[in-house]
Amino acid sequence: MKKPKTNKDNKSQRETKKPVKQPPGIGFSWFYVFIIILMLIISIFSRFGNEPEQISWLDFEQKMLSQHDVAKIVVVNKEIAEIYIKKEKLSENRYKSLTEGVFDGSSGPHYIMQIGSVESFESKLERARQDFTKDEFIEVTYTTTLNWLAVLSWILPIGLLIFFWWIILSRSRPGGTGSSIFKFGKSTAKLMDRTIKSTTTFNDVAGLKEAKIEIKEIVDFLKNPETYTRLGAKIPKGVLLVGPPGTGKTLMARAVAGEAQVPFFSLSGSEFVEMFVGVGASRVRDLFKNAKESAPSIIFIDEIDAVGRTRDKANAFRTNDERETTLNQLLTELDGFGVNTGVIVLAATNRADVLDKALLRPGRFDRHIFLELPNKEERKEIFLVHLRPIKKAKDVDIEILASLSPGFSGADIANICNEAALIAARKQKKEVAQLDFMEARDRVIGGLERKSKIISPKEKEIIAHHEAGHAVVSWYLKNVDALVKVSIIPRGKSLGAAWYLPEEHQIITKSQFIDQICASLGGRAAEEIIFNEASSGALDDLEKVTKQAYIMVAYYGLDKEIGPISFYDSTGQYESSLFKPYSEKMAETIDNEVQDLIHTAYETTIGILQEHKTELMKLAQLLLKKEVAEQDDLEKILGKRNRGTETINSKI
Ligand code: ADP
Repeated sequence: MKKPKTNKDNKSQRETKKPVKQPPGIGFSWFYVFIIILMLIISIFSRFGNEPEQISWLDFEQKMLSQHDVAKIVVVNKEIAEIYIKKEKLSENRYKSLTEGVFDGSSGPHYIMQIGSVESFESKLERARQDFTKDEFIEVTYTTTLNWLAVLSWILPIGLLIFFWWIILSRSRPGGTGSSIFKFGKSTAKLMDRTIKSTTTFNDVAGLKEAKIEIKEIVDFLKNPETYTRLGAKIPKGVLLVGPPGTGKTLMARAVAGEAQVPFFSLSGSEFVEMFVGVGASRVRDLFKNAKESAPSIIFIDEIDAVGRTRDKANAFRTNDERETTLNQLLTELDGFGVNTGVIVLAATNRADVLDKALLRPGRFDRHIFLELPNKEERKEIFLVHLRPIKKAKDVDIEILASLSPGFSGADIANICNEAALIAARKQKKEVAQLDFMEARDRVIGGLERKSKIISPKEKEIIAHHEAGHAVVSWYLKNVDALVKVSIIPRGKSLGAAWYLPEEHQIITKSQFIDQICASLGGRAAEEIIFNEASSGALDDLEKVTKQAYIMVAYYGLDKEIGPISFYDSTGQYESSLFKPYSEKMAETIDNEVQDLIHTAYETTIGILQEHKTELMKLAQLLLKKEVAEQDDLEKILGKRNRGTETINSKI
């Protein structure tokens, strides 16, 4: 068993060895390209510059041959005859132009002439020389030379093609334009060395108690490996952080780097996947090589699902050889380094279900740390962390902020705090007040208010009744979350919005599902009751309702007709397959049941709104007047919420 290197060993190793920093490759490549182009240009122009005059056979015969001026003829490539004039004749007046202003005008060739074919040229020459004396003779030689223009005509396009290919490659890869093509297969991992201290620590990670305990153990493995190896324990190689987006996976990995103070190689799974087969694999190899050289170290692969997706038959239609070879290489590398080499691989994903089983087996990513959306207490802690740098007013109540942000991730909370500070700054305030936080929260949920959006009075009336419809239905249904605010101020893409205070539950019952569907249909039902026709404004609601109904029927087994059957596939295989896991008949039944479910829910919704039509109209008028209805306004019009009605319908 290889003895793990201690921190001390490693320090001295790193002091003599500079961190992995690649020399800039761009200068050299450009230099070569430049030189080649320059040489081509020079060679072309040097020929063009001395190009001799072209003459016809008639001129040649009458003006030169018959005058006995020709010294020699060189036939090039059986196409062109180069004519050399005798030196002593060059001084004569008719040849003056050949030597004037030319560096070595006497050397020739002085003229060129196109010959039809060698045979006809030879016979013509023979005939012309009949009156020559016996001792006068013209030397005729034959040569073949490279035609530069012809060569260039095919070299240049290929050269340009390679050049553009190289530019596109260097732009498309994470290194940007400056990266050399020779470093294509190198790892693009960013190295945070011990000398560049990561400032993130566990203090910056709020909540996530259990996850923190597990991850702290990893830091300890790296800092004091002897404590574990002494007892014969094997230090884990791979740790998978699993959780929804924004729950702090990357933050946790950065905190590990900050706490362990060991080299930290971080990169995203998608950086492995390039256009060419083999590049990803070579990057993986390079990454592990670098990490092993600087052990103890940490490799962090964000979004590992980009490479680690399951390799199954269903994907056969969209084979991705590059991803598979990269994954294979990753598996080999994970197996390849022995236990206790001091390299720990952290990986993050929000789709652990789609990862290849081989990646999750013991000896690879066998430790899974689950990060979940924070509960109220944890949200309070996260608010505390992100409120640290903010200058807040005395009225800021973290308790209220935490309770008004259910279902929010750590990233959402960080966003709210930052938005609130920006809103306060825009209003030239000295401190950030509770109101700013509430505004920021609304903005994070619904997008920016767009008061300037032009809406006609008729449209405004429809929107007001639509939103009032949602409010009234959800007010009188037992299983819909508490309604806090309704607004018809356009925000982001939507023209109006209703704010609810979701309760935190882990499971959803059938009646809760149906009540939610009714509340979502409230807007469209109100339009139909008041205006006798529906508008296109309910698109988002209808999309949500349809998806929810399909999930209930096909996934959760909540439909009577179909029964407790689920076509949900946690492995993600069906998702990518062309075939459905059920028959045509079953597909038809599912469609019918979904349609039935939604129609019944719609009837119930219409019923509720007919019963409370006066309240609906009153609330719509209030919205038209004030644009926003707060909880007090709602209570004044709709009465205290008693949560009595339940829509559960035995027909469904
Ligand atoms: P993930 O990688 O899980 O998608 P990140 O780690 O990138 O999420 O989180 C994004 C941001 O959200 C972090 O930079 C941090 O500001 C904030 N954040 C998330 N979770 C937490 C937490 N538990 N404590 C403090 N801040 C958090």
